[in-house]
Amino acid sequence: MQLRDYQQQAVDSAVKHFKTSPDSAVLVLPTGAGKSIVIAELARIANGRVLVLTHVKELVAQNAEKVGILTAAAGIYSAGLNQKSTDNKTIVASIQSAVRAKEKFSSPFSLVIIDECHRISQDKDSQYQLLLTHLKSINPKIRLLGLTATPYRLDLGWIYRHHYHGKVGNPDKAVFEQCIFELPMRPLIKRGYLSTPKIFDGLSAQYDFSSIKASTSGQYQEAEVNDLLSHCGRATTAIVKQLVQIGSSRQGVIIFAATVRHAEEILKLLSAEQAALITGKTSTEQRDSLIEQFKARKIKYLINVAVLTTGFDAPHVDLIAILRPTASVSLFQQMVGRGLRICEGKSECLIIDYAANGYDLYFPEVGQNKPNSKSVPVQVHCPVCDFANIFWGLVDDDGDIIEHFGRRCQALIEQEGQKKQCDFRFRSKVCPNCGEENDIAAKICHSCDAMLIDPDKRLKEVLQQKHHHLFKCDAMLFEEDKDRLKIRYIDIDGNDFCQYFNFKTKAQIRAFYAIFVLSHTRTPGLKHPRYSKVQEVIATRDLFRKPDILLLKKHKKGWDLQETFFDYQGRYQTESKFLN
Ligand SMILES: [Zn+2]
Ligand SMILES: [Zn+2]
Repeated sequence: MQLRDYQQQAVDSAVKHFKTSPDSAVLVLPTGAGKSIVIAELARIANGRVLVLTHVKELVAQNAEKVGILTAAAGIYSAGLNQKSTDNKTIVASIQSAVRAKEKFSSPFSLVIIDECHRISQDKDSQYQLLLTHLKSINPKIRLLGLTATPYRLDLGWIYRHHYHGKVGNPDKAVFEQCIFELPMRPLIKRGYLSTPKIFDGLSAQYDFSSIKASTSGQYQEAEVNDLLSHCGRATTAIVKQLVQIGSSRQGVIIFAATVRHAEEILKLLSAEQAALITGKTSTEQRDSLIEQFKARKIKYLINVAVLTTGFDAPHVDLIAILRPTASVSLFQQMVGRGLRICEGKSECLIIDYAANGYDLYFPEVGQNKPNSKSVPVQVHCPVCDFANIFWGLVDDDGDIIEHFGRRCQALIEQEGQKKQCDFRFRSKVCPNCGEENDIAAKICHSCDAMLIDPDKRLKEVLQQKHHHLFKCDAMLFEEDKDRLKIRYIDIDGNDFCQYFNFKTKAQIRAFYAIFVLSHTRTPGLKHPRYSKVQEVIATRDLFRKPDILLLKKHKKGWDLQETFFDYQGRYQTESKFLN
């Protein structure tokens, strides 16, 4: 069996890495790239014994089969597959079964390969960590390699510390040290290894989930989603009607529903003989049987609630209908990936996004939750090291960046043999104790450990004093006033507060940059025009963002601006922030 070139490259990068480094490593390959072949080849060429671990029996079987093609049959250790071998050179095991019988894995392995490795948590009592600790106690030099299509987790961030493109991953909570190989999806499609995804845009109806916010871990509240959907009965009917219409000429249809209740509603609208539903509560036997019937094309529509994202493989699927909100690009691509396997008689896979998730199929993972529905990934060069960062941002009709939400440069810089993240911060707050820049959400200064004041705590204190006013900024207007620039802030009650800037001397212009441009720019780190006149600023007013809150103090003649708050998310927040 001949490996495809990129599969060989993935294997080579792992070999090269482990020759020079004991660090744990990750290979990122999209769904359908043939991860099991890469695993099998690594198992074949390894000198020592190899343990391949994964969490679902389908993947155990698939990996064992591929190992068997390339080399002597692998032993399988999986209760779900009724096999318990532990003596072979290569063992393919389910983590659940292996961890329950750790003592049977007591002759040393030289390499452990984990498929779907984004599932490993750092929790030392988790199944993977328990087994890894055991394996290390037997061979302290055991090497750890992970494979995944989704190296970014909404709850934990990147699963690795460093990326071989010179990028920082997750410096604090990464399970793996290095990402050593990553293959994007596009070349696989171009070369015919995956079917072409085709976005369908003649939608009969669409859900609007934009009013519901995902938690920081990317989860949506089921009750909230159900509540929203309870007003969308008509849309659901129209959507299913269209799915049946389009589905009549398709081979297999997967429907991703938002909640169990939603899925049941969809199921009722489909013909009972043609449709089935799988949820987290479906028993293993029933699930297996439904998937078998679906693969045999006895069932055409398979509805699921968050279960068919990994380890499920039905190549004939040629319509993916997404009816659920999705907080990450990777998860969206993972769902789409279910339809990209190549199959006889299938030329492309139709993708219908009824939930208006608005992700491009080829978006890179940004590594941060999407700040709002209009955001797209934008490239922002670091003004210090010139690294091309990918951040969430907004672009105009020409594709020019009008705002970006990057905070710190993601470049990995080699310094005295040590890899370090570039220091440049696009947005920051300054530590009042030592003057160092910190992340805008930091609570403790990274340099001097001083407590950075929580804005709410500070506001509460200040507001207890006399003469202070919290100005909840609703709009910011640029006006010319006797050769001066007048910035007029308007609050939610319609009151205004004005700030004035002169442009007569160089010092005044410098002051304008220092006081206004630096903090109000939508595109920190990118060059701003050189201003010498008021009109020039007014002409480019779209480059600036309004603050959320102004803290004002009364004096004899009027009000003084004490402090300006951006990115404010505390309890004095105004509603208007989310309206744009
Ligand atoms: Zn940089
Ligand atoms: Zn400090």
